Amino acid sequence: HLSKRMQAVADLVPKSDTVADIGSDHAYLPAYLLEQGIVKRAIAGEVVKGPFENAQSEIINQNLSDQMEARMGDGLDVIESDDLVNTITIAGMGGELITDILERGKAKLTMHPVLVLQANVDENTVRKWLANHQYEITGENIVYDAGHYYEMFRAEYVEHKISYSHEELDFGPLLLKEKSDVFKAKWNNKLSKNQFILDKLLISKSHPIEKIKKIKTTITEIE
Ligand code: SAM
Repeated sequence: HLSKRMQAVADLVPKSDTVADIGSDHAYLPAYLLEQGIVKRAIAGEVVKGPFENAQSEIINQNLSDQMEARMGDGLDVIESDDLVNTITIAGMGGELITDILERGKAKLTMHPVLVLQANVDENTVRKWLANHQYEITGENIVYDAGHYYEMFRAEYVEHKISYSHEELDFGPLLLKEKSDVFKAKWNNKLSKNQFILDKLLISKSHPIEKIKKIKTTITEIE
């Protein structure tokens, strides 16, 4: 049984032969994808020993050693070209780290695998990297799980240039079109938080002009 967040990530993974889940920890995501027959083979990559051992245990406990392998290494380094990886999943990290992993692992993306990504924060940084590398967002989800809003997206390589507006990068090109209830709830929540901070800043004795300007811009954008 996956968490709501992880289920929403899994829902974006296309039926494919081989998936590499980077920063896999317990390997719950690739284990689920195998069990559901969404993928046939999986690689669980981990750079830290403890989580790497968690992945190994899950493979043994779920009897998946024929189909899944845990590999210790940094980012996309664990992927070899003869793995013929069709899909890469990276979930549960900050957007800066995910972007860094993609940037440093660019050499492993020459076969243009589908990318399914879920950043806990700084989603816009990831979307920007994708657009700059001709990866188009073809699926996007947003969920509220255990007190947090999570956004996740699938990106596929295309032959043409991609350019997203500032709003599309911040709000998600597909989420912005769909405007689901969860999406509205997330941004209404952010709006109230920002308005609360603005009110505090406006009565502050130090008159933080720059901060006020910045937060007003954010508020206008969300509105
Ligand atoms: N993907 C799982 C999820 O979404 O629940 C686990 C997320 S866990 C918060 C982040 C994991 O990423 C940690 O286990 C950490 O060791 C791993 N990690 C961080 N940087 C990494 C890197 N450069 N390469 C591989 N794994 C990394």
